[in-house]
Amino acid sequence: MIVKPYSETHYLEALNNLIRRLVLSNPKKEELENEYKRIKAGDIGEKVVMESLEQFQLPYDFFIFHNLSLLLESKIQIDVLFLTPYYVVIFEVKNIKGDIELRHNPRQLVRTLSNGQVHVFNSPEPQLEEYVHQLKRFFLNKGTNIPVYGAVIFPFTSSFIKQTSNKTTILLKNEIKPFLRNIPIKTSFLTNKGLEHMKGYFLDSHTEFSPYPLIDRYNIPREDILNGVLCKKCGELGMKKFSHYWFCPSCHFKNVTAHEEAIYDYFKIINHTITNTKCREFLGISNPNQFYRMIKKMNLNSVGKNRHTIYSLPEHRK
Ligand SMILES: [Zn+2]
Repeated sequence: MIVKPYSETHYLEALNNLIRRLVLSNPKKEELENEYKRIKAGDIGEKVVMESLEQFQLPYDFFIFHNLSLLLESKIQIDVLFLTPYYVVIFEVKNIKGDIELRHNPRQLVRTLSNGQVHVFNSPEPQLEEYVHQLKRFFLNKGTNIPVYGAVIFPFTSSFIKQTSNKTTILLKNEIKPFLRNIPIKTSFLTNKGLEHMKGYFLDSHTEFSPYPLIDRYNIPREDILNGVLCKKCGELGMKKFSHYWFCPSCHFKNVTAHEEAIYDYFKIINHTITNTKCREFLGISNPNQFYRMIKKMNLNSVGKNRHTIYSLPEHRK
């Protein structure tokens, strides 16, 4: 059964808003757009894999985790983890279009598009081997020699995949279930209680990494991020504040709480904290009383008094 279901990469929306707020003169726009597309495609691939495992059954208990971050010898981020009493499998999901070649010496993933364009990516193989090694050591330290397998999944059959060695298991979506069913189960390494314990351990140990503020992560100067309130409907920047609502001059969309999204953008894109002045500047509001009324409703963490107040996101919104 699935115990940690599929969820979208949590900073995808903030990354999209960063791209919308980036000044045209910043040379990183294309790079960020590619990063956004790469994460989005990765999410779609992982979603498809998780969906294909939803109704899956085996004659023994198993637990499936999507996107599990664990601190072992280093921080590892597993796309899909399959835990059973007999074995463990780490799935690395790759959603990459085109003809794919996994090369050795050096290990690279080379992709050729139908128009002849060639792109070189990091090979998923060394990372997968490292994850398998670390998880194997983790279980050994817990006193069990349970087999840990790894496989790279290319969920979309449109790809033509060529491998220069057969060291790594490569699966298409329709091969995942037969692969799992064919894993030999001679010895049970975990009791029911042990399996439950490991499930709880993995769920408790999972720590979502924080990429915020995004301008630090992507090395972007603050002045390259445009102020203003984004319209949720058309994506344009520059909603105008009227007494009871925000109004988009581009598409005429009205929204009462548009400033809240903008303030969350500020925390995620620019800085963990915001002052009264900086916030009004960001939203384009001159009236301090109007500002206080708005920010009060948001239940942010605050330190200091009146105009010296520093606001930050409460723990559950981070
Ligand atoms: Zn609009």
